Amino acid sequence: MSSDEFALIDRYFKQAVEASNLNSNELGIGDDCALLQVPEGKQLAISLDTLVEGRHFPEGADAEQIGQRALRVSLSDLAAMGAEPLWLTLGLTVPSACEDWFERFSRGLLQAAHEFGVTLVGGDTTKGPLTLSLQVHGCVAPEAALRRDGASPGDSVYVTGTLGDGAAALAVLTEQVEADHASQEYLLQRFYQPRPHIKEGRLLSGLASAAIDISDGLLADLGHICKASAVSAELQLEQLPLSNALLAIASDEQKVQWPLAGGDDYRLCFTMAPQQQHRLQQLMDSKLLKATKIGEIVSGSGVHCFNRGQRLELSAKGYNHFGNR
Ligand code: ADP
Ligand code: MG
Repeated sequence: MSSDEFALIDRYFKQAVEASNLNSNELGIGDDCALLQVPEGKQLAISLDTLVEGRHFPEGADAEQIGQRALRVSLSDLAAMGAEPLWLTLGLTVPSACEDWFERFSRGLLQAAHEFGVTLVGGDTTKGPLTLSLQVHGCVAPEAALRRDGASPGDSVYVTGTLGDGAAALAVLTEQVEADHASQEYLLQRFYQPRPHIKEGRLLSGLASAAIDISDGLLADLGHICKASAVSAELQLEQLPLSNALLAIASDEQKVQWPLAGGDDYRLCFTMAPQQQHRLQQLMDSKLLKATKIGEIVSGSGVHCFNRGQRLELSAKGYNHFGNR
């Protein structure tokens, strides 16, 4: 790391530690390692995400928005585990030590860190094509962690929030579809500032039998739960929750394809045994949690889709034969 970069880290990131909630016996940025205390009785939950310019966010995207999005997306994995976010380390590869970029990026990143109670405790900075690696660390009681392998036949399948907005936003960003002003604003907000469902994950911990965050599309991600739990899922497509913005801009085909295969939604898909569902209903009635039941877990393998009771065969090629919703 050059003296330029040291100065930038000091100026823009070290303030994170000064404003942090580290204990007096803990250590953040500035030494060879951070020193951190995992709360008693908890396990450390760790996840790493890498974002590459041009692949995970558009080239030339605003640095503040990239900072916001990068952390929010990474925290979604902690949400899916039912974990409480604690710390962040940042691997930063930048083409040049551009002060303006650092200033804007750190502003977005640290704002999101503050919002979700995460402290930046260290990282590494190198030169190269713009790439961000964020490792988030959280804690969760071992018995409360929401793993992928706990779903059983008879459980119901739910999703928190609406599906398909990530893909809809990408279609708007890449100008593949046109959107009215209100839809565009909503979708771009969903893209750059997805809210990791941390609160939902923590409410569900101990209640849900399995959970995953939806980053690659519902079919793929629910498929991971099915595989890990050795079960099958039956989805009712007419029950998938869609936003007004998506409904306003999507073709009939996209109304099925985006929520099922679009990705970048960062909602939680979870399963729950019948005996826990009254507790979920209480959480929903008291407006602590929004969730929609979208299907059932059965024995077998894979994810199967139904539209108004009729089974649909999925093909990798497209979804236009799904019929109208
Ligand atoms: P070392 O050579 O010992 O690995 P570095 O020179 O890479 O240390 O970093 C010095 C300090 O600055 C370390 O505490 C490191 O965690 C921190 N740091 C470096 N890059 C970043 C970054 N992108 N974000 C946060 N902290 C960083
Ligand atoms: Mg280093």
